[in-house]
Amino acid sequence: MRRVKAKLGDTVADGVCRLVEVDLLAAQWQPDLRFLVISASDEERSRVEQFRTAGLLNVDWIESDGVQAGDVIVPLVNRDEVAVLHRPSDQHHSLQLTNRCNSYCLMCSQPPTQANDEWMVQETVDVVRHMAHSPTVLGLSGGEPLLLGAKLRDVLECVGDWHPETRVEVLTNGRLLASADLSRLILDDLQTPTTWLVPLYGHADFLHDFVVQAPGAYEQTIEGLLNLQAYRQPVQLRIVLIKPVLEILPELCAFIGRNLPFVKEVSLMGCEPIGFALANRELCEVDLVDWHETLQRSARYLSRYAVPFLFMNVPLCALPTDLQQYAHRSISDWKNVYAPECDTCVVKSDCSGFFAWHERGWKPSKTVQLIKESTI
Ligand code: SF4
Repeated sequence: MRRVKAKLGDTVADGVCRLVEVDLLAAQWQPDLRFLVISASDEERSRVEQFRTAGLLNVDWIESDGVQAGDVIVPLVNRDEVAVLHRPSDQHHSLQLTNRCNSYCLMCSQPPTQANDEWMVQETVDVVRHMAHSPTVLGLSGGEPLLLGAKLRDVLECVGDWHPETRVEVLTNGRLLASADLSRLILDDLQTPTTWLVPLYGHADFLHDFVVQAPGAYEQTIEGLLNLQAYRQPVQLRIVLIKPVLEILPELCAFIGRNLPFVKEVSLMGCEPIGFALANRELCEVDLVDWHETLQRSARYLSRYAVPFLFMNVPLCALPTDLQQYAHRSISDWKNVYAPECDTCVVKSDCSGFFAWHERGWKPSKTVQLIKESTI
């Protein structure tokens, strides 16, 4: 989430707003939404005053170099800032439903909190309603979204109602879907196109449970995956490439191929060096160049069982040449950076690059090696 400095009209209150250019306000205005006109001049502000005098009290103004028309924001009134929760021009779009979680993963990039944050659900619904643009894909993440129970279904239906062309991707540990009742509540006759992104870190309970630091999680996640399959929901398995996982990755991939052949794809993901990953650095910091053979064996297993796979959050030069074609640009725009060496690399436009916090933590491979000839 970006935070940008902004000057706001005196009457701007807390709550979600859509930013709009003054000439487009008439076309976009709806009584149950809130609008901030992007204004740079006294004339534009006086037009906003005229709207308000005419009774359009859901219209106000914002002045900021860091915002764009179509942004959906929350004003942080006392700080002269706004939080940008949705930007149409971004490549990736996601909304966070809660900070709470029932796992405690070794490399969690966003350590969970216990506080009641039900307001985040309403905020998400408000953002969805204020989005003028329907993204192709909208991620819903946490914390753990399934902790919302029936409210998760409400959010999914809200996206389906307001943005019927959008596919939702729910990032969840899947554990609570071990419950047949909750599975029915959330999945039965779900019309919103949804893909479930579920992490799996081992092919035995002690392996997975260690990584997610939650006894019993493996059994629950497998049960949850089977329930997703029972409701014909597409599943992407997510595997973060930290040391305890890389040590068993080929066996895990063979297990997936043999036992979970229904999964749509497997995403092999670079670790974000932030949050708990920094505290567990000895387990999370790896140089992927040292693991090329492991990655190649794992890829061979997935290919043998015809399970599609991809790499996310991994720069191309950290992968063996034959696997570079499977890498995706996956890092959200606002946290994506490149090393100075990347400027002359021929594959930069196809490369994931790095998280902004790689400079403070570590990179997926110690050496950034610009590529002079594309293999993808
Ligand atoms: S040098 Fe930079 S742009 Fe090129 S592959 Fe490596 S990280 Fe990507």
